[in-house]
This record gives sequence, structure tokens and C-alpha cells, in this order.
Amino acid sequence: MGYRGRFFRRALALLGLGLILAAPAQAKLQVLASIKPLALIAQEVAGDQARVDTLLPITASPHDYPLKMSDHKRLRAADLVLWIGPEMESFLARPLSSLPADKLITSYQLAGLNWPEEVQEDGHHHTNHVHLGKDPHLWLDPRNAILIAQALAERLAQLQPASAAQFRANAQRFAASVQQLDQQLAAQLAPVKDVGFAVYHEGYGHFVGRYDLHQVAYVTYSPERRPGAKHLQELREILAKEGECLFMEPYYKVQGMEEMATSLNLRIGLLDPIGGQQVSSYQQLLQQLSESFLTCLADRRNR
Ligand SMILES: [Zn+2]
Repeated sequence: MGYRGRFFRRALALLGLGLILAAPAQAKLQVLASIKPLALIAQEVAGDQARVDTLLPITASPHDYPLKMSDHKRLRAADLVLWIGPEMESFLARPLSSLPADKLITSYQLAGLNWPEEVQEDGHHHTNHVHLGKDPHLWLDPRNAILIAQALAERLAQLQPASAAQFRANAQRFAASVQQLDQQLAAQLAPVKDVGFAVYHEGYGHFVGRYDLHQVAYVTYSPERRPGAKHLQELREILAKEGECLFMEPYYKVQGMEEMATSLNLRIGLLDPIGGQQVSSYQQLLQQLSESFLTCLADRRNR
């Protein structure tokens, strides 16, 4: 072997080494979830075979978020973007329209999703508002989370066939765990299902419907919309009649709510549909919601 031969062998060896060093960073599939609940579901499916990131900070409203240049870059760099749909993250509709369809999972459009039943004006439920399409907070029904996990597993299996079995097994394990939790929550919440309450924003229909809870009103339809005086008057009347609890949210506030709750002798609770910093799994998010409902709805006479 001459000088040139050895040179080439060394060059090839170096090149090989370079590829090996570069491989781990390139090989990992990158899933970008729009909001934390979707990232938590995706994390279960991805396991250690793909990387999952969240686009929005947890303090941001998923209904209205100003995308930064760096966010646009992250959207383009991801192998797969998982979002709810324009009904929730309307600010993503345009940026995502330029992505190829196989790089996108639109949860709102998945087949077989469960939707809360339209409640009737039967004297027990109140529908004094117009539903603008179906409630997009669909991750709050655990059956929908399972559907999202399964759809994601299939897509990841296509993108990275070597890990297909693992993605599917992960989704299956997640489904089993969530089904079990679903039953636990149904049993936990059954004793309080006749206790009337109002939520801060109209975003809990999937949870309320799944566990047959007795929501009688909401403070505001969307978190960044201020309720009008007429709506607040109706809210007060409904709560005076059949409310025991008023749920607020961590990042929003409408003036006068605490005063209303105090004057009507209501307990004040806190609901977080996204899951705070300390929530590290989808199951924990649901458990926390359930506990928040229980804390405020149970123990009626102990004020
Ligand atoms: Zn919402």
C-alpha cells in the first residue's frame, strides 16, 4: 500500500469517526408539541427514542401567543409538530400551513375523538352562550389523550421504523395507565357530581363531561376576553341559585370575582388546564385537576 492508499484509509477512518460522533445528535427524532399537555403525552410515546420539546411557555395563553423568530425556526427544524388545531392555537395556523402534511399532527382532526355532549336547557344545565365549534381543550378527556398517543406512535413509527415496536408499546402502556386513572377519577369524583360550580374560562367541558360534573356557568368564554356586565350579572344569579364553588386560573384575573364569591358564600378553587411547572406527566395533570375539583366541591358545610 502506497502513501496515497494509507492517506485515504486514514481519511476514511476519520470520516467514519466523525459520522459516529455526529450520529447521536442527528438520529434523534425531534417532536415539537405546541402546548405542555401535548408534550406530556408525546413524552410517553417517544420514550428515549425521540426528543420532545414544548413550543409555548406554560404561562402563555394557548389561545393567543405572539410567535417569535426563534419559534418559527423551531417549527421548521422539528421532524414532527403536534398541535391541537386552529380552533385552539389560531396563531399557529399560518406558520404551520407551509409545513408538509406528514410533519404535522392536528389533534382536533383525529378520527374517533370524544366530544362533550351538548347540554340541554333542561333546568339543570345552562346553555346561555353560543358554542363556537367544539371545545378544543380535548386533552382533558383521557380517552382523547390515548387517541393522540396512538396517532403519534403510528407517525413516529413511519418516521423511524427501527423504533416502531417501541413507540407502539409505549403508547399501549400509556393507554393502560390512563384507562386505569380514568376509572379512579370517575370513582373519586362521583360523590361531588351534583355540586354546582363556575369555571373561570369555558375550557373544561371535556373533563366536566367525562366525569359528569355540574358546571353551571363560566366567568369568561376565552381567558383574554373580558366578560360583559350583563354576563357577570347572569353569573351572579346562577351562582346564587346553585353554585358552591368558583374556580379561578393561575394566570388570569377578572376584577371583582373574589368579592362575588365572598358575598355569595362560595368557596374559591384554582384550576390549571395546562399543568404548572411541577406537573411532569399527563396523569399528574389529570390527578391535579381532579384534586382541585374535589377540594372545592367536597366538604359542603365546612366553610
Ligand atoms: Zn382555553
